[in-house]
Amino acid sequence: MMLKMAKRMLFEADKRLLWKLAWNMGVKGGLSVLRHKSRLKRGQVFPPFLYVSIINSCNLRCQGCWVDVAHKQHTIDPPAFRKLVREAKQMGNIFFGIVGGEPFMHPHLLDMLAEFPECYFQIFTNGHFITDERAKRMRELGNVTPLISVEGSEIISDERRGRAGVLSKTLQGVQNCVRNKVFTGVCTSLCRTNIDDLLTEKWVDRLIEMGVMYTWFHVYRPMGPNPNPELCLTPEQARRAREFVVEMRAKKPIVIVDAYYDGEGNALCPAVTGISHHINPWGDIEPCPIVQFSKESIHSTKGDGRTLREKFLTSAYLKDFRETAAEATRGCIVLERPDLLKAVVERHAAKDVTARRTALAELSALTPRGSQHNPGNEVPEKNPLYRFAKRIFFSDFGVYRK
Ligand code: SF4
Repeated sequence: MMLKMAKRMLFEADKRLLWKLAWNMGVKGGLSVLRHKSRLKRGQVFPPFLYVSIINSCNLRCQGCWVDVAHKQHTIDPPAFRKLVREAKQMGNIFFGIVGGEPFMHPHLLDMLAEFPECYFQIFTNGHFITDERAKRMRELGNVTPLISVEGSEIISDERRGRAGVLSKTLQGVQNCVRNKVFTGVCTSLCRTNIDDLLTEKWVDRLIEMGVMYTWFHVYRPMGPNPNPELCLTPEQARRAREFVVEMRAKKPIVIVDAYYDGEGNALCPAVTGISHHINPWGDIEPCPIVQFSKESIHSTKGDGRTLREKFLTSAYLKDFRETAAEATRGCIVLERPDLLKAVVERHAAKDVTARRTALAELSALTPRGSQHNPGNEVPEKNPLYRFAKRIFFSDFGVYRK
């Protein structure tokens, strides 16, 4: 299997892009995680993987989306993005997740990323704006990988994403990337209406046939003003998803990403381990994209001239969030204990940083439910390479032992 994967990479991807991926993301990205681990030993948290929502607008209207996509457009502009990346680089960061809204609606997206050939960017996109020309530009840049979301069959996709013809446009975007030998991923937010179509070997084989190099099965989270909790996976379906991922990793020549388990199958929250935090289009620093409360901004504000490093290292709110969540569960505090999250927000008078200004009411209305933490039912990795890599680069880093 690993040989087949190596063969695919060598023959299907552009060699220069492969080199960039291996060096920027593999070697330098790996080093940034090791730096994070040693900072943690000194009690300091500066996330090595920052996720940056550069725009709130989107052309789609997905069910359960928590971003204010219909609100007046707001973006992180090139000078702010430049400052952010430079400050993060000073801490050894190399990787940035670019999120939205739809990032390709940002008028300067690829020009902003072109300024940092030494970094690596993963763009979370619906693929609709990836024309052949844009795919060629991504190939030319080499420091970018699109992660294109597919949410189900034609009918399910249209229902989930609020428009007709969504899937074919998305697949066109995938094809444009693959044809141009861009290192391309496809992700899915698994929910009750798409799990039977997409959590299948047939779908993984189809991705491989299409030339997709990696995939990521997220799990639908009922958040935002219209949370649609009826779409949430049942606990049995969530376990089936984990088992499927572990199985496919040992069997198929495609990389499968996940963010919620260590190599032994223990659950974790990436915001609690401090490996990632999120920045919204207004520049507010949040623990993660669905925790839409903040005390700090990447922008210099009146009365707060701290550097980005100082903001992360001294934020009492972020620290309290991580510690409270770590004490409560290895899973997701938002889903399991919204009451505790609300208490953290109130303790620090953290600002609701949505445009709709209803996040606290939404949090209060959440019904507690299970998350990735399922004690006694851990599913360890079967593929030794994933197990080994996770041991070094993706574990709980001891945060739950405190
Ligand atoms: S708080 Fe929940 S949604 Fe946010 S990173 Fe942690 S597990 Fe994921």
